Amino acid sequence: MSSPTDQRPDALEALRRVFGYDSFRGFQQEVVDHVVAGGDALVLMPTGGGKSLCYQIPALVRDGVGVVVSPLIALMQDQVDALTAVGVRAGFLNSTQDLNARRAVEAAFLAGELDLLYLAPEALAGRGTVQLLERGRIGLFAIDEAHCVSQWGHDFRPDYLNLSMLHERWPGVPRVALTATATSATRAEIATRLRLTEARHFVASFDRPNIQYRIVPKREPRKQLLSLLRDEHPGDAGIVYCLSRASVEKTAEFLVANGIPALPYHAGLDAATRAANQQRFLREDGLVMVATIAFGMGIDKPDVRFVAHLDLPKSVEGYYQETGRAGRDGLPSTAWLAYGLQDVVQQRRMIETSEGDLAHRRNLAAHLDAMLALCETVRCRRVQLLEYFGETSAACGNCDTCLEPPESWDGTIPAQKLLSTVFRLDRERNQRFGAGHCVDILLGRTTDKVTQYGHDSLTVFGVGTELSEAEWRGVVRQLLAEGLLAVEGDYGTLALTETSGEVLGRRRTVMLRREPARAPSARSAKPR
Ligand code: ADP
Ligand code: ZN
Repeated sequence: MSSPTDQRPDALEALRRVFGYDSFRGFQQEVVDHVVAGGDALVLMPTGGGKSLCYQIPALVRDGVGVVVSPLIALMQDQVDALTAVGVRAGFLNSTQDLNARRAVEAAFLAGELDLLYLAPEALAGRGTVQLLERGRIGLFAIDEAHCVSQWGHDFRPDYLNLSMLHERWPGVPRVALTATATSATRAEIATRLRLTEARHFVASFDRPNIQYRIVPKREPRKQLLSLLRDEHPGDAGIVYCLSRASVEKTAEFLVANGIPALPYHAGLDAATRAANQQRFLREDGLVMVATIAFGMGIDKPDVRFVAHLDLPKSVEGYYQETGRAGRDGLPSTAWLAYGLQDVVQQRRMIETSEGDLAHRRNLAAHLDAMLALCETVRCRRVQLLEYFGETSAACGNCDTCLEPPESWDGTIPAQKLLSTVFRLDRERNQRFGAGHCVDILLGRTTDKVTQYGHDSLTVFGVGTELSEAEWRGVVRQLLAEGLLAVEGDYGTLALTETSGEVLGRRRTVMLRREPARAPSARSAKPR
């Protein structure tokens, strides 16, 4: 049987004959030409942009095997099957396969009978695989999900650090690194750590115009989610992200109990269950996957109609990647996030109590701050999101802030009232008073705790009745988001920061986002 490499097709011919597409998309052609000519490349394209062809076509056109390093072991079989189905000679080597299968792939590789060989990064840590590769003929290396080399990212894989050795051992073989993570910091880190100093960078626009971004105040998140699914996405496939395994389980049960077919996915489930749930999600229509962020990298399901977050992602990069799994087919899709005070308290606390040195914690905090800024912005979400990735754009008309522009209001006086309360409580050093207690004091509520500590005699007691409890929680959340307030210790004790003084000393105005009222504009409708 004749094979693509026997004939050494040119790139366009391979695209048409093997993959059945008429033309290249975006800058695929440029990447392909550059790599075919032996150049290194760093390719940044959003999910669904078409990264795979950027190395698959060069692998077919160049002499030798295209070796693809990928962390997505669970997907290798599917990838290889899909390639085999169109006549590409592909194989993989990873820890899930039995010895016979491995031997067969090794033999095919050595005989020059493969176009593409997929490897897990850990395979290259062992001498066996490296020796095998040295005995064959390699046309290029592709390093997929290259952001896994970034130690600051949530997908960090230690074995990726070792991949710089590819350049040392095979200096003449072109390398192409690909990722959907876009910040210039990550890009620079990839280039340095993988020794891709000479690589040409190909950076696509990261806009996903068919995704509608929405960030709503969290009240009863599961019920809010249920309304979203019933009102806007009945029968649609989607992903719901939760922070903890326990809330994944509970949310999946809740959806099933309410007639929505949902499956759980998290690292605490055994491998067989995870694989089975993933397969069902990919193959059946209209399933909802409730998952931790362990789920999703590399999942190629075109018709995911919504991605919902019930908890705040830790970074804009994570948020972008997770929401990017919606709408790969280009059809309208929803990215929906419910976000509340508790998220900020919890994440700030997690950072404060996390292992690792000060630099590490500062980095986590900086990532969280950018995510919070996206949540609290009164500007177009997309403009802010793309700006984070270094792109400028105009207001999109397809996000919540464009569709229903939020008001901002001068919250300096409430901020001062809140900060003074925290200041007074802060002096009772050994006590622990969280947001709820501060709000009780401001609203003048004589709870047990308020009476027990005599806080009804504080000058700030009852000075905040102009705002509702929800609005006060919004004030606390936004001050935390802006770093004008901090949380300390395991109990979420509120504390002042270096910048709190600017507000207390009237040197700084605090503009806040109006909390959408329980009933829209009920407040302003009331006669004064
Ligand atoms: P990524 O890895 O960047 O997320 P993929 O490589 O999986 O994206 O491609 C996403 C989808 O777009 C796939 O279904 C792929 O077949 C399709 N695709 C990629 N390039 C082209 C092209 N030039 N013409 C038509 N479809 C394409
Ligand atoms: Zn917008």
